[in-house]
Parts: sequence; structure tokens; C-alpha cells
Amino acid sequence: MEDPRATLGEAFAAVADTLRHHRDLGLTEIAFNRPEPPDPSIALASQERERQGCTLCKLCQSRKTVVFGSGNPKAKLVVIGEGPGEEEDKQGKPFVGRAGQLLTKMLASVKFDRERDCYICNVVKCHPERNRNPEPDEVAACNPFLLAQLDAIQPAVILALGNFAAQTMLGTKEGITRLRGRAYLYRDIVLVPTFHPAFLLRNPGDQYKRMAWDDLKLARREWERLTTGIS
Ligand code: URA
Repeated sequence: MEDPRATLGEAFAAVADTLRHHRDLGLTEIAFNRPEPPDPSIALASQERERQGCTLCKLCQSRKTVVFGSGNPKAKLVVIGEGPGEEEDKQGKPFVGRAGQLLTKMLASVKFDRERDCYICNVVKCHPERNRNPEPDEVAACNPFLLAQLDAIQPAVILALGNFAAQTMLGTKEGITRLRGRAYLYRDIVLVPTFHPAFLLRNPGDQYKRMAWDDLKLARREWERLTTGIS
């Protein structure tokens, strides 16, 4: 195996050679201007237009609308659910039904305004009939769309809601009760899993509410640490 110090030495020597060469050519400055990142609002609007009328999976046969996502494209927090419900399918916007109303309150409890501070979307963009779980081929067909959304937004933190979103993002079969309570790294984004608001509506006891509250506080702390440098 090559000695890593020798490899590093060679790399530095090559950089020094290049700099000397540039100096000999009369160069006095090196510009480190990186190209401006594309505007996420423009990127998302164009992605949303392209997804309209999508027929990549069988969910297209029963859905009314492609529920792409909503909120602030420049948000540093992305909230990811499972798939649009019936109401979302009608309105074309994620989390607008009862679970959505609870989600809005959950986010507000840690001072996130849903429209100003968050971008909200789902693992699959079309409503699975009778709210069944999306199937693997449907997730696979939709996954590039979610990845493209994340590439455009470049969030610092993802809040993954419920078993389905957390398991899909983290590539595990572990249940949400075991996954929640800590932060993970998903690519270069901090991912915090928590209970889905629909689950909290079905299980109204304090036990789950308290755990969800802890997760939300963790997401808030991570968001502050990564966006303002204050932990
Ligand atoms: N449940 C979800 O997972 N997503 C929605 O958009 C609505 C309900």
C-alpha cells in the first residue's frame, strides 16, 4: 500500500508546481468565485411542472393531483411524510387534513412557522387509495423526485414523519419507536425521525406526545446549530 504521507507530499508538490507556473505566466490573483447556486424556487417550480401528469407508477390511475410539496423553497427544514391523503389529493397540497392541522401545531410548538420556515413534502407524491402504504415500486419510481427536491432546497435538517418516511429515508426496517429520539446523517443532512401526526391522533395519550415533543426540540436545536451556529 502506498504511504499516504508520500501521496499527500506529491499532491502538494503538484499544486506548488502549478502555482509557480501561473506566477511565471504573470498571474497575480486566483479567483475562488463559485457559481451562484441555482435559485431553489425556480428549480422547484420547474420540477413541479415536469411532474404534472406523471405516469411512472400505478398510483397515477387513481390520484386526482400530483401533490408535489409546499412551503418555503429556501427553508432549512424539510418535513417529509408518507404520501398524500384524500384531502391532500383534492387540494393538491401536503398535510392539509386533520394530521396536517396537528403537524402545523407541532411545528409551531417549537417556533417553526409552516409556511415561512419549512418545506413540506412526501415520499410519494400521489395518494395511495384507502391510505394504504405506498408499495416498493411506487417508492422507487418517486424517489428521484424527492432527491431532486432535496438537491434544490439543500436543507440543514429533515424531520421524517412516521415509520414509512423514516424507514425509507434511512433504509431500515426498524420501527419508529426505536428510530426516534436521536439524529441521523442522511447524505449531509441531519435527519430527525418522529411520530407521524396521524399516529398521534390515533394514540392521544401523553406518552407519545411527550416523545414527539422531545424530537421536535431536537430538530429545533439541530436547526439552530446548523443555521445560526447557536446550539
Ligand atoms: N399524511 C402524509 O403522510 N402526508 C400527507 O400529505 C398527509 C397525510
